[in-house]
Amino acid sequence: HCGFIAIVGRPNVGKSTLLNRLVGQKLSITSRKPQTTRHRIMGVDTRDGYQAVYVDTPGLHIEEKRTINRLMNRAASSSLTDVELVLFMVDGTIWTPDDEMVLNKLMKSQLPTVLLVNKVDNVKEKYDLFPHLQELANKMEFVDVVPVSAKHGTNIEAVEKIVRKHL
Ligand code: GDP
Ligand code: MG
Repeated sequence: HCGFIAIVGRPNVGKSTLLNRLVGQKLSITSRKPQTTRHRIMGVDTRDGYQAVYVDTPGLHIEEKRTINRLMNRAASSSLTDVELVLFMVDGTIWTPDDEMVLNKLMKSQLPTVLLVNKVDNVKEKYDLFPHLQELANKMEFVDVVPVSAKHGTNIEAVEKIVRKHL
């Protein structure tokens, strides 16, 4: 089982920190991996039985699900061609217009998306969790919503478990 997992979100939400948690030192592998035009490979996590290739999608040019492109790419290079799952990361303490922009693109993509609410270590009370969270969950259907702290490693196993399920 292998596939592309896209980590998306506006700058500063904690994507790189998460990636470090997910692949750690294996990050160095990336320099020897071929790049694709649509995805920039950030790290590869290879464990027994599965390989998760974490990518970012420059300009968020995520293909819509049933395009000719996707089908052609699938045929051209077996399984490692498109995104199996999107990890949409937000900062649990603040919502900005840039988050909104990312959300709108993701909604169009129709890709299975997991909402990662990061920096929960900064959330002192449950009700402080940003008020847009409910609104967000109403707008888009997520595969899962996972509160995490990339910095402190909170709930990273839950993320890995979900990723593995989609490979
Ligand atoms: P990126 O731009 O999305 O890749 O974000 P970075 O991974 O570079 O993180 C941006 C800033 O947020 C850095 O100062 C990180 O240390 C901080 N950060 C990332 N994750 C967390 C977290 O879980 N909790 C807190 N408090 N800070 C975090
Ligand atoms: Mg980064």
